[in-house]
Amino acid sequence: MRVYYDRDADVNMIKGKNVAVVGYGSQGHAHALNLRDSGVKNVVVALREGSGSVEKAEAEQLKVVSPAEAAKWADVVMVLTPDEGQAKLYNDDLRENMKDGAALAFAHGLNIHFRLIEPRPDLDVFMVAPKGPGHTVRSEYQRGAGVPMLLAIEQDASGNAHDLGLAYACAIGGGRAGVIGTSFREECETDLFGEQVVLCGGLTSLIVAAYETLVEAGYSSEMAYFECVHEVKLIVDLIYEGGIANMRYSVSNTAEYGDYVSGPRIIDDSVRARMREVLDDIQSGRFTKEWMLENAAGQPSFKAMRRRAAENDIEKVGAKLRAMMPWIAENALVDKSRN
Ligand code: NAD
Ligand code: MG
Repeated sequence: MRVYYDRDADVNMIKGKNVAVVGYGSQGHAHALNLRDSGVKNVVVALREGSGSVEKAEAEQLKVVSPAEAAKWADVVMVLTPDEGQAKLYNDDLRENMKDGAALAFAHGLNIHFRLIEPRPDLDVFMVAPKGPGHTVRSEYQRGAGVPMLLAIEQDASGNAHDLGLAYACAIGGGRAGVIGTSFREECETDLFGEQVVLCGGLTSLIVAAYETLVEAGYSSEMAYFECVHEVKLIVDLIYEGGIANMRYSVSNTAEYGDYVSGPRIIDDSVRARMREVLDDIQSGRFTKEWMLENAAGQPSFKAMRRRAAENDIEKVGAKLRAMMPWIAENALVDKSRN
């Protein structure tokens, strides 16, 4: 595995380019602002007319144009819109309009790896995928640091795709932390697996199941929330800082013993077998196909699941308890009005 740093890159390769960042959400705002602060003079944000993000980008003095206009002007088009709409964006606005030999870039490999987008052969196609939410990509950059990023090249029409991608990654802060070389396939499949099995799916299902088990057993929902939700952060921070052993060093011996004897009862061989099934659905493209069908139908079950989950008692109890801890909101990473 190759890791690159600022010293390996020629950031001038990106500074003189016209860079269009399509989308101004979690990743978009971080890329656009970091590029500009790194000295890339010609950065525009591309948004659809009437998009709620226009005001946020203009508030940062960024120029906002339509995706088609941006494509005609740009040497590098970074696509930071939701994955499920990228194929339509490419087909409607980018394919016909992008300059000969321009670069098409992504922060996630899904559309290219599963061939939802078939990029024009004259284009360079690369991926710079920050290993962190956009809000952290921005806040770490402002602190003078950066988050680690992945770099992958799918098409190298110019012969410079790698160096250009690396320059881009460094301009948004990746070279300060390390830019890891990978492929679209590896990034895409491991990313989907991680978010489904651990980060989003596994963790939230574990939390909700444990919370409901305590509440059903007659314990107060406030206690269940503190033990099964709130304290997750304390544990994750310890793991994040020094690995699992660091967390076990810090907790009591009773907690550590319970970890060894009960953890494998919860995550047993049947769970591992289903993890392999989830991985198989990802690798075979079944997951992506279903998600795209869901989108083609207007996301009915996605929206229903989102609504039902938001109505869960755990969210109401959480809102009440978090109000007792004002420091949480003061240090919030997400500010829906700005980014
Ligand atoms: P987001 O939902 O936060 O923001 C999407 C933005 O795109 C919004 O500004 C929206 O107005 C705009 N948009 C939607 N459709 C558009 C269109 N047709 N034309 C122009 N603008 C349009 O998205 P995000 O979470 O930043 O994800 C963007 C990409 O980054 C995805 O490929 C995602 O997989 C990847 N990524 C995200 C994260 C993350 O932290 N959220 C981390 C790594 C990679
Ligand atoms: Mg991810």
